[in-house]
Amino acid sequence: MALRSHSLAEYRKKRDFDRTPEPAGSARRRRGGGGKSRFCVQKHLASHLHYDFRLEHRGVLLSWAVPKGPSLRTRDKRLAMMTEDHPLDYIDFEGVIPEGYGAGIVMVWDEGTWQPEDGFEDVDAALKGGELKFTLDGYKLKGSWVLVRTGGRRGTDTPERSWLLIKHRDDWAGEVDITAFAPLSIKTGRDFADILAQGDPDVWESHRPAQGGQTGRLFEQIIRKAVRIRQENQAGRQRQPAGGRKKKTAKKKPGTTRTKAPRRRTTAR
Ligand code: MN
Repeated sequence: MALRSHSLAEYRKKRDFDRTPEPAGSARRRRGGGGKSRFCVQKHLASHLHYDFRLEHRGVLLSWAVPKGPSLRTRDKRLAMMTEDHPLDYIDFEGVIPEGYGAGIVMVWDEGTWQPEDGFEDVDAALKGGELKFTLDGYKLKGSWVLVRTGGRRGTDTPERSWLLIKHRDDWAGEVDITAFAPLSIKTGRDFADILAQGDPDVWESHRPAQGGQTGRLFEQIIRKAVRIRQENQAGRQRQPAGGRKKKTAKKKPGTTRTKAPRRRTTAR
């Protein structure tokens, strides 16, 4: 009778875990204390920029892709496309998906805990009914919100994927454009270029997740910046060898007969 089985079959079917750093979700993690479940929002630059909104529920992460991202303005109704359940381990995932499904860069944009509001404690029933009111306690997103299904046939077994994410009026609502105001990773403070620079910025030499258009231009900028960050890091390492010691003077100490070895590059990780 359940609308969805909360299994990871679809998640796993879409991915080749030899080729993606994303978690396979083999181990189920225990939920955090206090009876509260966790949530996260992952900013994901793939074929298009979007924000993946994920709520922990019965051992998985219920997931919606929000193209414009969450808004603190109560008049904004943000389209949220329901996607496949994700494993709980995914909640911390930040990195580069080099190829395949979702290829691009993932950033943990917000995280915290969530609770269904009064009358919505039966989350499965709420999902089936197409309306879930809940409270978020994150760093960027707080207070009362609703996810409401749109356009779908209610009470059928056909899950309609189109929902709206709306902020309720409370102390945490406001006019600030939160995605522009707080664009960085809540986990590491990094932007997309920093995350990409940690890996291999040449990863999309031949097949970039998006060519041309706004997303293609965004990718070009980020890749250029990541290459620059990498070069600067390498230059910094060469100027200051491991150990942070000052370069020894060229003057030879009397009695030392060391043959000069090629300078080794330290790979700080
Ligand atoms: Mn995504």
